[in-house]
Amino acid sequence: MSITITTLARSDDAAAGAAPVIVVLKAGAGGLGPRGRAVDERAGGALSRALAAPRLRGEAGECVDVLAPAGLEARRVMILDLGAAAALTPLAATLAGAALARRLEDEAEPAATLLFDGFEGCPVSPGEVLARLVLGMRLRNYRFQMMARDDTAPGLALTVVSDALDGAALARGAALAEGVTLARSLVNYPASHLHPDSFGAHLAPLRAAGVTVEELERPELERLGMGAVLAVGNGSARPPRVFVLEYRGPGAEGAPLALVGKGMCFDAGGLAIKTGPQMFTMKGDMAGAAAVIGTMLALAQRRAPVHVVGVLGVAENMLSGASYKPGDVVTTLSGRTVEVFDTDCEGRMVLADVLHYAATRFQPAAIVDLATLTYSVMRGLGHVFAGLFATDDEMASGILAAGERVGERFWRLPLDRAYDKALRSPIADLRQHGRDLEDGDAPMAAAFLRHFTEGRPWVHLDIAGKEMTDEDLPLARPGGVGFAVQLLEEWIDATAIAGRK
Ligand code: MN
Ligand code: MN
Repeated sequence: MSITITTLARSDDAAAGAAPVIVVLKAGAGGLGPRGRAVDERAGGALSRALAAPRLRGEAGECVDVLAPAGLEARRVMILDLGAAAALTPLAATLAGAALARRLEDEAEPAATLLFDGFEGCPVSPGEVLARLVLGMRLRNYRFQMMARDDTAPGLALTVVSDALDGAALARGAALAEGVTLARSLVNYPASHLHPDSFGAHLAPLRAAGVTVEELERPELERLGMGAVLAVGNGSARPPRVFVLEYRGPGAEGAPLALVGKGMCFDAGGLAIKTGPQMFTMKGDMAGAAAVIGTMLALAQRRAPVHVVGVLGVAENMLSGASYKPGDVVTTLSGRTVEVFDTDCEGRMVLADVLHYAATRFQPAAIVDLATLTYSVMRGLGHVFAGLFATDDEMASGILAAGERVGERFWRLPLDRAYDKALRSPIADLRQHGRDLEDGDAPMAAAFLRHFTEGRPWVHLDIAGKEMTDEDLPLARPGGVGFAVQLLEEWIDATAIAGRK
């Protein structure tokens, strides 16, 4: 993925008007902006005539392609509709940018010149609209290129003519796109290429952006007593790891926000082996960790003034003579013992140790964990929402609102002590899950994890089913979605929790 942006001053309007592919903007019934109208005039009204087509509804994301209009040197002028100016949101601008990128790609156009206009009555500043348009183009332009050589990488050279350049907004969008891109690629790598032994090498972009990366290997996990991580990872020939990431932005002196991620590079289910169809997508069972990594890259690349730590439990849940077994009692890092029933409930085991580690090592102001955790959250909420559980109402409402702003939607589910009754074990401190495996497993898993958060304000995001898409989505083609990177970046940008003074 590459979009190169060149920006030209207003005096270059005429030169830009001679570009082969010109893009102008329209705001619903408000019509073209000043630059668009100038192009229309030079084309003898060809744009206005094309815009009278009956299929057009004036909605955000509509694209009209005017080919080789007389009076212009351009081979095409694309008109991108932003919808009614008064209704424009950052998300709508992002989606419109994605629609434009898709259209340019469909037409195999390698370069375009955007003559940017702001519109009266728009609640979003023109610089922000431009930044979001470009973000949408970058997100849509991503494709996974594991096998590709550099010289085959598709790219789009975008030239922007605008009076409304907002450098900070553009830089934030570029960093965010990098973060989402990395999270997507991590999910897209098959388990042959992304596994506990190679995981650390994939974190080079974080190091380059100034994030410190610690890799805790088996002897260190044994010394610490991370019995749950070790139990889960023991069935694999590749021993488990815990990665500890830290980013401290300029002036961020306070206690950090801790982001905790489930990083199951492959989940065969362990001895409670999954069926083939269930197993096929399990390279994506590290999407929680990928979201943490992508978020930290997005924050670090733009030097956001926040203090964030990431703790990732990275393992493979495999079958061998050394696999952990149903009925085992495992001593976790917290000292609490857990009676294992289903080895396929490995995510909550690993999270038990990394949550406790994050809570006790960093004394964080708050913890957010992300995990592709339960089938029950997928069954209960379908493709629209992911599940949110929280001990803190303010964090919950902040994250829910951020999700609505970026189009990564969550629904709050119950976190209640009443679920603890089903987690009692006669031989350990806790059962691993409730007695009926399927009924209410998502809130049961959340109730289990709460024991390891050591009283810190905490939000648990169960993102099962959101990590990969079979469908072509507005912002993502089939494959890894990079889900929750935009959500976390947006929320962290808006909250005071992450180490701000
Ligand atoms: Mn599992
Ligand atoms: Mn799993």
